[in-house]
Amino acid sequence: MGCILSIIEAKNKKIRNSSLEVLSESQKIAKTKNLENKVIILGEYEQNNSDQINEFGIDVILLGATDKIKDYSPDLYKNAILNLINQLEPEIILFSGSAIGKDISPRIAANLNYNLVTECIEITIGNDGYQIRRPIFAGKIIQTLKFTKEPIVMSLKSNYFMIKKVDQKEFSTEQVNIEEVENTTMPMLKEIIQPQKETLDVSEAAIIVAGGRGMKEPDNFKLIEELAEVLDAAVGASRAVVDAGWRPHSEQVGQTGKIVSPNLYIAAGISGAIQHQVGMINSKCIVAINKDKNAPIFKFADFGIVGDLFEIIPELITKLKE
Ligand SMILES: Cc1cc2nc3c(=O)[nH]c(=O)nc-3n(C[C@H](O)[C@H](O)[C@H](O)COP(=O)(O)OP(=O)(O)OC[C@H]3O[C@@H](n4cnc5c(N)ncnc54)[C@H](O)[C@@H]3O)c2cc1C
Repeated sequence: MGCILSIIEAKNKKIRNSSLEVLSESQKIAKTKNLENKVIILGEYEQNNSDQINEFGIDVILLGATDKIKDYSPDLYKNAILNLINQLEPEIILFSGSAIGKDISPRIAANLNYNLVTECIEITIGNDGYQIRRPIFAGKIIQTLKFTKEPIVMSLKSNYFMIKKVDQKEFSTEQVNIEEVENTTMPMLKEIIQPQKETLDVSEAAIIVAGGRGMKEPDNFKLIEELAEVLDAAVGASRAVVDAGWRPHSEQVGQTGKIVSPNLYIAAGISGAIQHQVGMINSKCIVAINKDKNAPIFKFADFGIVGDLFEIIPELITKLKE
């Protein structure tokens, strides 16, 4: 029986949301193609902890790689995953759309001379093979690709796939023998500096409060932070304020930032340029605060507040605190 291999990432002992999307999709592919659903979990995770993963139809969790490849290094990860692929010969290799997934999937495909499809947003399996849809030209066009045979390396665009659980299922564990892998990368990881304050990641948050150039100056982001704190939300930003050095790139939402799909996205002082829109259009509810009633963001927001954000946000904070 052939298999599908999913590369799953954990952070702070939890499986990342982007990887839960991979698990949801891999169970579908495994079932349709009658493949064994094999998973390797990289990063900090109790490998036998089934709480987060026992409802994703996993057949086998592969153990034995994590000790060898703890911290991210492109060469270490690539070599270890290649090692695994040589042993398992999977038909499909599935990555998330995380920074690591984006970095490693092309290296794997190039090394093995396999087909590669990045940023998949829909995978359909029919009698004639796989039909995969992915956005191109900053989301202006959706490309449809057809593959009639495996192996294929795929990476999923984050926040596009529903996290779908199935019935609880027992999985087995399998020890894999990853040979000592050599790190040949020129830049070596020396230290990981954690942020001073633990903040919510925009790509994982259920609520995001984002600010743009309408905030006028970096100090005014205190307002966005305060509103975010009241709502237990992550702070997001437009590229204009990231480029200006007001906010870190990790908060940038959009084409060259992160793709998000929270339940609630509050955009304050953001015009709604197409490059910002492609990053947040999948939010369940978009609330825009902008003093210009003709701002493009009002064309796709669910609720619009036309007015000065410096009056509206403090009022919102007061009401929410009440
Ligand atoms: C290749 C490429 C990639 C890009 N990638 C990204 C990306 O990933 N993410 C991204 O965001 N952008 C991206 N951009 C930039 C994008 O085109 C816009 O320039 C940017 O999104 C604008 O940011 P903004 O909305 O904060 O600023 P602006 O467009 O200047 O909008 C500011 C808004 O604030 C409003 N405002 C001002 N004062 C107030 C007030 N007191 N109260 C309420 N509203 C107020 C104004 O009416 C205005 O609508 C990219 C551009 C290119 C070319």
